[in-house]
Amino acid sequence: MSRIVYVNGEYLPEAEAKISVFDRGFLMADAVYEVTSVIDGKILAFDGHAERLERSMSELDMKAPCTIDELEAIHREMVARNNLSEGLIYLQVTRGIADRDFVYPDVEPSLVLFTQSKNVVDSPMAKTGMKVISIPDIRWGRRDIKTVQLLAPSMGKMAAKAAGCDDAWLVEDGFVTEGTSNNAYIVTQDGTIVTRNLGHEILSGITRAAVLRYAAEAQIKIEERPFTIEEAQSAKEAFVTSASTFVWPVVEIDGKTIGDGKAGEIARRLREIYLEESLKTAI
Ligand code: PMP
Repeated sequence: MSRIVYVNGEYLPEAEAKISVFDRGFLMADAVYEVTSVIDGKILAFDGHAERLERSMSELDMKAPCTIDELEAIHREMVARNNLSEGLIYLQVTRGIADRDFVYPDVEPSLVLFTQSKNVVDSPMAKTGMKVISIPDIRWGRRDIKTVQLLAPSMGKMAAKAAGCDDAWLVEDGFVTEGTSNNAYIVTQDGTIVTRNLGHEILSGITRAAVLRYAAEAQIKIEERPFTIEEAQSAKEAFVTSASTFVWPVVEIDGKTIGDGKAGEIARRLREIYLEESLKTAI
C-alpha cells in the first residue's frame, strides 16, 4: 500500500507528494523537524514535540505553518489515513519557496508529514544493547535547534558501521555531547545517572525530559553534567534515549565492554516505565 503523505494542506499518495526545487529546505537546509512515535495507533509525547517545534521555528525567525491544534489534527489524520498502528511520524517545516538568497525571504512556510510503519516496542537493540564508537563532534554550534542539517550525524553513523558498531557518541573538548540521533547517559558505579546538561551543545530531547522525570520519581540520583569517554567506559551502565528508540542500552564503547556486556538494569527499568507512562498520555 502506498503511503499518504501530507504536503501543504493536501493528503497525497507518496508518488504525487512533491516539493519545489526552490524550497529552502532543499537548497539551504533551512528547515526544522520532529519525529514522534506511534504505538497502538496513538501518538506519544505530542505536546513536548509541538513545543520544541515552536521553539526551533522561533529561534530561526521561521513562520509557523499552522497552529498546534491544527498540527495535532494533521497528525491524527495521518495515523488514520495510513492505518498506522506502530511506527513513526516525521514532520518537517521549511522556511518556504523563494529564489536562492542567503537573506530570509518573506514567504509562507512549507509543511510536510509522512509516516513510517515500524516495530518500535519490540526492537532487538532494546534487548542486546548497542555498541558505540566515539568520534569528534563536528556539528554546528546550535544543536538545540532541531534542523535538518543531518550530514554530520549521518557521517557518524557510517563511521560506526564501518567499525562494526551501531552508533557513535560525539565528543567535543574532551566531553561527550550526545549520540548521533539520541541523548547519551551513563550510570556510575554508585547508581547515579549522568547526562550532559542542556545548552546550545545538545538537543533538548523530549524523551530525555520524560526519562529524567521518571528516574527522579523512582528515587534515582541524577547529575546533569559533561562526562568523558573514559568515565563512560568505567561506568556500570550506559544508554541512549530518543523518541523513536525510547531507551536503548549501550554495552560497548570504543571496544570496551560496559558492565557485564548485557543491557543494564536501570536502562531496562527506565524503558519499561517510559513505555508505560507515555502511553497514558498518548493521543
Ligand atoms: N539528540 C539528537 C542529536 C537527536 O537527533 C535526537 C533525536 N531527534 C535526540 C537527541 C533525542 O531527542 P528526542 O528524545 O526528542 O527524540
